[in-house]
Amino acid sequence: MSDITELSNFINGEWRPANCDHWIEDYSPANGAHIASIPCSSSEDIDAAVEAALNAGEDWGYLSIAERAGWLEKIADALENRAEEVAQLESLDTGKPISLARSVDAARSVANFRFFAEQGREFESEIFEMSDATNRVVYKPVGVAGLITPWNLPLYLLSWKVAPALLMGNTVVAKPSEMTPMTASLLAEVIEDVGLPTGVFNLVHGNGRDAGAPLTSHPDVNLISFTGGTATGREVAKSASSGFKKLSLELGGKNATIIREDVDIENMMSSIVRASFLNQGQVCLCGSRILIHESIYDSFIEAFLEAVSNMVVGDPADEETELGALISAEHRDKVLSYIDLAEEEGGSILCGGGAPVGIPQAFEGGYWVSPTVIDGLAPDSRCSTEEIFGPVVTLHPFSDDEEAIEIANMTDYGLAGSIWTADVEAGSEMAEQIDSGMIWVNCWLHRDLRVPFGGVKNSGVGREGGRWSLGFFSEAINICVKH
Ligand code: NAP
Repeated sequence: MSDITELSNFINGEWRPANCDHWIEDYSPANGAHIASIPCSSSEDIDAAVEAALNAGEDWGYLSIAERAGWLEKIADALENRAEEVAQLESLDTGKPISLARSVDAARSVANFRFFAEQGREFESEIFEMSDATNRVVYKPVGVAGLITPWNLPLYLLSWKVAPALLMGNTVVAKPSEMTPMTASLLAEVIEDVGLPTGVFNLVHGNGRDAGAPLTSHPDVNLISFTGGTATGREVAKSASSGFKKLSLELGGKNATIIREDVDIENMMSSIVRASFLNQGQVCLCGSRILIHESIYDSFIEAFLEAVSNMVVGDPADEETELGALISAEHRDKVLSYIDLAEEEGGSILCGGGAPVGIPQAFEGGYWVSPTVIDGLAPDSRCSTEEIFGPVVTLHPFSDDEEAIEIANMTDYGLAGSIWTADVEAGSEMAEQIDSGMIWVNCWLHRDLRVPFGGVKNSGVGREGGRWSLGFFSEAINICVKH
């Protein structure tokens, strides 16, 4: 019997093969083994999924928001019952450590459904009184929502879109990354098990060109929520704009971690290392550029290198592992090419730079890069300003807050950043001058799901999170009644 899982599309409540007989192979990043095959879906499959979503839309949109919140709660409960399975599949499919898959991916996917269920129960629309009239805002569904997600946090990001989309009365066609299809299929199983009305949630596997692009251009899709790279986001924006679809783009980042001279290095170090390398540096919010006040530059580097060298890199299934494998051979090669470029640009590799030493034989076919720290690059060099999206950080000295802000803003991206300091007032003031959607002071990835999430510049368009998600996934209609 084969160990390879064959996944199907989930359309109109049925598991369906794709219209073409071509399959896409899914590999384990840890050892390169072929673990699953997904259908290479095409525009016919997208058409079928959109038709199902369209047909389901009227009844689903007719339910009250409290009834739909009840459905989200059911999905959250059923997903929670399978949380360990989610973590195991996510670790296998992405190469991330199992401890991370449990504490972040599995937990947050459940939390996303629960959070939006709660938001639905608390939801109140606005009333604006005039002296002679009353304005009442009504939130209507947008229609069919096309949801496109990347491979780094597969179910975490998919659930972040599915939950508010369903809550606000939309029906969904989801297209996950071809490289991490497994937990999207698990979500479809959960949705089938809880008995969500047929056609409300549809899943189409496949690649961006053959399945993603027809979804973004489909005339009956009214909204696209896309998370992925900036170059793809540009294509998605072009494709969606001719039909005036509602569009949210959550794109790449090149975030700065700013270490002020008054920082308590010892206390902050584990958090700074986490901000640099979580998920092998494959989190859009990771701080891939560390800007350090010149007075503590050498002592910071010494402490940082020691902490990085203590990280446990290896078998993602081992509970002790802190860093796993990169998503694909192609992505590993891209990351390694940036390390080569760093040397060409005059940088010095202080640690890492290639595959980890002593990786067990069973993992030799995997896609490994050890945590890499680079010093000596100009802050406007390509390696310091382009997104590498791997376990690679560059170090840069600065002389005062103004210079730190200037360097932080020296990239086309503007997603996130963090500032580490004993002076929280100065840190907060600096935060306002950094052109990014999200800045943390003395913490990183400390998430309150109610706050706006999104980037500026080339990091995206629009905001999701809390009421921003509810606004994006609905049409606010004003009804003005004259007294
Ligand atoms: P990607 O290559 O842009 O792909 C993202 C998704 O878009 C995948 O499902 C992909 O399908 C699909 N796609 C590709 N071409 C498409 C097209 N022409 N039309 C429609 N869909 C298309 O990104 P990735 O490599 O998966 O993810 C890494 C990137 O995501 C990084 O840049 C990271 O910073 C960013 N990211 C941003 C956030 C955020 O919140 N801002 C969060 C996480 C990740 P296939 O890959 O299956 O072909």
